[in-house]
Amino acid sequence: MTRKTDMDAINTQNTFTDAEFLTEFRVVTEKNGLSELVAGKEASFLSLARMMLEFNSHTNITAITDLPGLILSHFCDSLTVAGMLPRGAAVADIGCGGGFPTLPLAIARPDISVTAIDSTAKKLAFVWDAVRGLGLGNVLPQCMRAEDGAHSAVYREKFDVVTARAVSALPVLAELCLPYLKTSGLFCAMKGPRGAEELAEARNAVKILGGTVLDTKKVVLEGADGQAPLERMLIIIKKSSPTPDKYPRAYGKIKNKPL
Ligand code: SAM
Repeated sequence: MTRKTDMDAINTQNTFTDAEFLTEFRVVTEKNGLSELVAGKEASFLSLARMMLEFNSHTNITAITDLPGLILSHFCDSLTVAGMLPRGAAVADIGCGGGFPTLPLAIARPDISVTAIDSTAKKLAFVWDAVRGLGLGNVLPQCMRAEDGAHSAVYREKFDVVTARAVSALPVLAELCLPYLKTSGLFCAMKGPRGAEELAEARNAVKILGGTVLDTKKVVLEGADGQAPLERMLIIIKKSSPTPDKYPRAYGKIKNKPL
């Protein structure tokens, strides 16, 4: 009798046909009002899903590998901020990990450019693979710590929009992200249902860093039949004045003594 290896089990669980992917992708994007945004780009999302699973089979970049999870938690969730990006926006995605929201945004919005920043080399290796595999000319992966890049003249106060999903609590995240924004730029923090509590804890930090809270948006993403909806909160902060030069501080200080 042949014994199934752990890898066989993973591969079996994650097997879906192109048709299954495309059907579920169309249904779920339509339920969430994203059809127009992804029209004509379905094949790129399918290729991205295939590339992720292949890369994940040897190097762990995500725990979400089932078809409904990929479509809802990675693709649709990333696209919730697409409508807030001005035409041609220069976007920095801080702590992009394996490319979220970077890659779905870059596929859906070829007019924008995304600088994808993360300190974990193996995750950025996947982002590079996806950029090459999908021919995305509008993504620039950068392997560095966000607090270091924010003090470089190349990146400081250079972006129209900064995004961050699942990186750290908002008081810490604000210090990592706001320095990258031009005055009048927008920081979109992609949070879960606890977003409002995090915001209450971050108000002082936002003010010190030159930000003003513009809006919070509760988003409920509908999944495939039988899949639980995903509750999200987008926190939109506008940069109203330059961030004082001393921020961000060294990571230990940001983490241990949030503003
Ligand atoms: N945004 C991706 C997503 O939603 O799938 C990745 C989320 S992952 C949980 C958090 C990522 O933030 C990790 O890849 C980690 O390396 C990165 N990160 C955390 N702190 C960072 C920092 N100070 N500078 C750069 N990257 C950081």
